[in-house]
Amino acid sequence: MKQVYVAAEPLTAHVVREVLQSKGFFAVVRDEHIFGLRGEVGSVYPSVWVHEKDYAETRKLVDAFEAGQRGASARPAWTCPQCGERIEGHFTECWKCPPEAGDSAGDAAGDA
Ligand SMILES: [Zn+2]
Repeated sequence: MKQVYVAAEPLTAHVVREVLQSKGFFAVVRDEHIFGLRGEVGSVYPSVWVHEKDYAETRKLVDAFEAGQRGASARPAWTCPQCGERIEGHFTECWKCPPEAGDSAGDAAGDA
């Protein structure tokens, strides 16, 4: 087995394991039970381990996962130019404004 990811907290380790398993890779979380004793045993973080033959592929998935996490938290909130509502960064469209008006496909198609 080979360590593919070290998490800051057990929850993250399990999320990564789920991601890898959802792609068909075998993965286990190690050291999560020592987590509570970290002060005594030193720097022990929960880690995710995979088969060595899967390391290259799972490493890519982990990289993508980490990039996604950074992206989600780094995206700043923005202000809607139409209504002025402040929108959280993970929304790409204003949740307050209605969808584009004047684009009703129903009218054009029905009258032909
Ligand atoms: Zn808006």
